[in-house]
Amino acid sequence: MTVKPTTAFPTVLLSEVVAALERLYPVDTASSWDRVGLVTGDLDQPVSLVYFAVDPTLAVIDEARAAGADLLLTHHPLLLRGVHSVATTSAKGAAVTSLVVNDIALYVAHTNADVASPGVCDALASACGLVEVAPLEVDQISGTGHGRVGSLAHPLTLRDFAQRLSAALPKAVGGIRVAGPADARVTRVAVVGGAGDHMFDAVRDSGADVYVTADLRHHPALEAREEARGGTPYLVDAGHWATEWLWLESARSELVRELGERGASLETHICTLRTDPWDFVIGAATSEITGGTTC
Ligand SMILES: [Zn+2]
Repeated sequence: MTVKPTTAFPTVLLSEVVAALERLYPVDTASSWDRVGLVTGDLDQPVSLVYFAVDPTLAVIDEARAAGADLLLTHHPLLLRGVHSVATTSAKGAAVTSLVVNDIALYVAHTNADVASPGVCDALASACGLVEVAPLEVDQISGTGHGRVGSLAHPLTLRDFAQRLSAALPKAVGGIRVAGPADARVTRVAVVGGAGDHMFDAVRDSGADVYVTADLRHHPALEAREEARGGTPYLVDAGHWATEWLWLESARSELVRELGERGASLETHICTLRTDPWDFVIGAATSEITGGTTC
């Protein structure tokens, strides 16, 4: 989905876009292990078309290049760990080379976009239909809010809640997975976009009936269900890519708003390439089997 500018203004520079992004998603709010900010590009280069995507994969970069994008804004870093080569012999090297050769700037807003308001978790809370949304946990030192917790306007069964959420998410092959009785009533919902199985203590403290996140690994998820003795918090694994893709529209509208009149010269496009790595599923058990089944 491409949005074209409605008014002709002089071309905006990458330095202006980067400054706006750093007001929206301050670099110093990123986790210490993270790598955010400008990855490729020249601050003096003009920007006409901004592409938004979750992952800077080769396919995403190819699509951005074919569209004539000047800036690719992604949630996930391309270079999180040290590299000694950006030759095309590795996928990451090929990605960097393609970006540089094609004059595409890459900018990353990752954990700083997770904690921003509005940010990744707000977009997921909105897709869940939550009201009276607050941080799930507040860092005592920095004051940063992690995750969100809020309430549904009306209680729903766990099945209906998951179906409504599924309808609001982009489709991934694995669908969404739910742990808990399908007919249980849920009102209070905790959310963390992307991998969230490190926050079960905060979820329990919040009194949430259901926890929506992704990448729920076997042991943390099973232990959380054991601690719940079959009760709350129920779990919804809604997919890493899908839960974070929701943020791209927020990032686009926030960036255009932050640039004010200067943003009117930008074209923007939200990439719809599915960068969830899975392509098909076979052998799934019948849905809504509730616990205690044999392998
Ligand atoms: Zn993520």
